[in-house]
Amino acid sequence: MSMCKTCLKDSSKHSKKLWTLHNWCPLCQKNSKDHSEELWQMHQRAVVKGAKGGKIRPVTVGLARSSVGRVVEWNVPVSPKGQSSSYKLEVIPIHMHCVQCSLAMGDVEVDNGDVLGGLCLKCFREMIGQEDSYYDKFPSYRSYEYCQKIRKRMEKK
Ligand SMILES: [Zn+2]
Ligand SMILES: [Zn+2]
Ligand SMILES: [Zn+2]
Repeated sequence: MSMCKTCLKDSSKHSKKLWTLHNWCPLCQKNSKDHSEELWQMHQRAVVKGAKGGKIRPVTVGLARSSVGRVVEWNVPVSPKGQSSSYKLEVIPIHMHCVQCSLAMGDVEVDNGDVLGGLCLKCFREMIGQEDSYYDKFPSYRSYEYCQKIRKRMEKK
């Protein structure tokens, strides 16, 4: 028994397919279980914001991992006089954006959004005053104590 993150009903009230749909993060392609509560909210907000009320569908850009994109439909005239036209679909990738510099964030930043407080690594590093070597070590620095330390520093700001 566990509660659905989307409709807040019990898992028994879902078909298996619906459950996966309701508890799958389209942004980082992971199950809700792999998120902290805060991170889940951040990812869902980013998707809703990025979708702008439109349709979304999975997208893979270059060598990046699969993510989600907003579907945009273009009306393209086929004949010169424009009597007939066809739809062209474009999927524009949705990103999480740094709350400070507004740049799109990478996988590491998206996965650690709760620890980083919605900042990209560059802004985060500037804020806590760490030098560049910190970047390489980052993913292993996820202990509870460490997170608390960062949070405290952020609150002070
Ligand atoms: Zn549900
Ligand atoms: Zn996610
Ligand atoms: Zn930034």
